[in-house]
Amino acid sequence: MVSKARVLIVEDEPEISRFLETALTDGGYRVETVSTGKDALKLCAAAPPDLVILDLGLPDMDGKDVIRRTREWSRVPVIILSARDQEAEKVAALELGADDYLTKPFGTQELMARIKVALRHANRREQLAELVYAFHDLRVDLARRKAQLKGEEIHLTPTEYDLLALLARKAGQVVTHAEILREVWGKNSDEHDHYLRIYVQRLRQKLGDDPLHPSYIFTEPGIGYRLNEEK
Ligand code: CA
Repeated sequence: MVSKARVLIVEDEPEISRFLETALTDGGYRVETVSTGKDALKLCAAAPPDLVILDLGLPDMDGKDVIRRTREWSRVPVIILSARDQEAEKVAALELGADDYLTKPFGTQELMARIKVALRHANRREQLAELVYAFHDLRVDLARRKAQLKGEEIHLTPTEYDLLALLARKAGQVVTHAEILREVWGKNSDEHDHYLRIYVQRLRQKLGDDPLHPSYIFTEPGIGYRLNEEK
């Protein structure tokens, strides 16, 4: 029998903490809750959880410092919780190694989907890398560096392919602008920010994706992009 995944909730707002605890327990997870960064770090070290849900605004320390300290020794998936107007905070947290984010208020369905994706990615890291991304009519073969739409090869430039492959490797999870620029265009590429929008636009065209109602590439305003994945 597969043992239930253990989720650590780090949240000081009692209402949200209770909502998370109920939703996750009902969803079949084992749950522990703490309300401070100090307790979170202590618990992570004593009994490492399978996943951490972390509020960025904690009473005793900045949630970003919890991520920074945890990442010194652990790859445990971390999903951050933050307010709608904290784009810069979210980006900073993702850059420090958080895996994904939820913007308050969020629903149970979204919460469960994010957790499932994060746990699946963590498992893949432990086993072997997923070599094929497939969703709807799109298929990306990461080993052969080929992309197909409805069984027909899509003709991509190397840069377009690299961009699609990066999103595919992290399918279902947000990838920040800075990470894309670094991975696809290399170091010191911050000034190439405008390339990214142009390349995403081209990629969407080749995938037949409508930017207003995308099936594949979703825009996370102010943060990055997310490639759709089967829930
Ligand atoms: Ca808080």
